[in-house]
Amino acid sequence: MRLLRSQRSLGELLASGPLTSFQTHFQNGFHKYYISPLNARLPAGEARDKACDMKAAIIKRFGGPENIELADLPTPTPGPGEVLVRVRATALNHLDVWVRNGIPAYKISLPHVLGSDVAGEVEALGPLVKSVRVGSRVSVAPGRSCWGCEYCLGGRDNYCAEYGIIGAHGGPGGYAEYLCVPQMYLLPAPDSMSFEEAAAYPLTMLSAWHMLVELGRVGAGQVVVVMGAGAGMGAAAIQVAKFAGARVIAVSTSPDKLEKAKALGADDAVACPPGDIVRQVAAFTGGAMADIVVEHVGPAVFESALRALKRGGRLVTCGATTGPTVSLDLRLVFSRQLHIRGSYMGSLRAMRLVSRLVGEGRLRPVIDRTFPLSQARAAHEYLESRKQFGKVVLKV
Ligand SMILES: [Zn+2]
Repeated sequence: MRLLRSQRSLGELLASGPLTSFQTHFQNGFHKYYISPLNARLPAGEARDKACDMKAAIIKRFGGPENIELADLPTPTPGPGEVLVRVRATALNHLDVWVRNGIPAYKISLPHVLGSDVAGEVEALGPLVKSVRVGSRVSVAPGRSCWGCEYCLGGRDNYCAEYGIIGAHGGPGGYAEYLCVPQMYLLPAPDSMSFEEAAAYPLTMLSAWHMLVELGRVGAGQVVVVMGAGAGMGAAAIQVAKFAGARVIAVSTSPDKLEKAKALGADDAVACPPGDIVRQVAAFTGGAMADIVVEHVGPAVFESALRALKRGGRLVTCGATTGPTVSLDLRLVFSRQLHIRGSYMGSLRAMRLVSRLVGEGRLRPVIDRTFPLSQARAAHEYLESRKQFGKVVLKV
């Protein structure tokens, strides 16, 4: 019988099959935690009926949305320092689509449970858990790291060589009724928030915070251009920039989405084609141009993004939805002394700060539409249609 029992000894875990780098134990101060076995395995033989008491949406092979199927899996058991979360909502990200399609860089074993943005209630406590009680409403910080390297010890855990995201290369995710979570990754979800809202913010709001606050050094009065403003990432970036007191120019191909971006606080809006972006930023700023461009689109807008910056401006990129390769005019970079910063998620410290701001209502998760877990495939198809503004959320 192969159950998801995180309290199994490391020897048993090793004997049960190859482990990812995250399926190792690590020391954290005084307690030894085991991270739950990360890639959900279907139990074999006679144990199947008895053990499989949890509904999940899984992929057994990489490819299109038709590869998402419902399955019964064993409910995981929380190990030392972990809690069992009864998942109530899981938000989709484009990361889910990439993982579903298969990313060569992510070594994911199948079957796999997707879902990186998770919220629910604490159902049971493993040994040594003191920070939460059964029944606590929580969101889950999606990043996982080693907590032993120079980056982790320096508070930059998202730079860790072993950094992973649950539902992707950091273990099973939230397309399931239950998930084991080390207590350090739990974020309070106040009663004033729905579970859907509590699931809708961690990944995008953390990424936007890291891009704008940590890397972009956004400040009051600065001009921030948000490319791809209609995506979940764009809605988060608009809010973080406005929170910091910046003026925001939203860019999207969709006039409808630009109206919604304005309702969220954007001061100006630019519909593509990309050629218009530079002209419109110049018009909005009286020729001064932008301090920061938040970018996750890639080659379709990259040159416009650079040309929209003032001297010493910062381009922060966290994605490449239109392709991985851009051409770069170095004369533009050195003559304007531009900064190009790559961004990937954010630290756990930043995640907790963002969680507090969301809990206080100062940053607001934006939900487009919800689907039941049983319609995870339809939710993926909807996400890939790019019709949404804000997050698509599964109710579990
Ligand atoms: Zn580390």
